[in-house]
Amino acid sequence: MALITCPKCGHQVADTAASCPDCGFDITQVIIKHSVHKANIFVTVLVIFVVIGVNLVLIYSVPGYSRAMNMVAIRTEMSLVWIIDALKGLLGE
Ligand SMILES: [Zn+2]
Repeated sequence: MALITCPKCGHQVADTAASCPDCGFDITQVIIKHSVHKANIFVTVLVIFVVIGVNLVLIYSVPGYSRAMNMVAIRTEMSLVWIIDALKGLLGE
């Protein structure tokens, strides 16, 4: 069980409560937002690991050392741009 701060009165409310015991504010809306935020972070971390995994497979499947190293540089750069975009999306920018 986690505690959530009531956006109306600032009272600490259990995340299992339907409404704030102090002011009656509907806490379920806040809990849904919290859950969505946690799910977004989980998905982003998962996708980052998948991207890294795909990159590793591509690196080892590309024949030729120097060509592979070029691919590493290009794909690392692309991944970083993608990760930064994903994080900006999470932060709502
Ligand atoms: Zn309240």
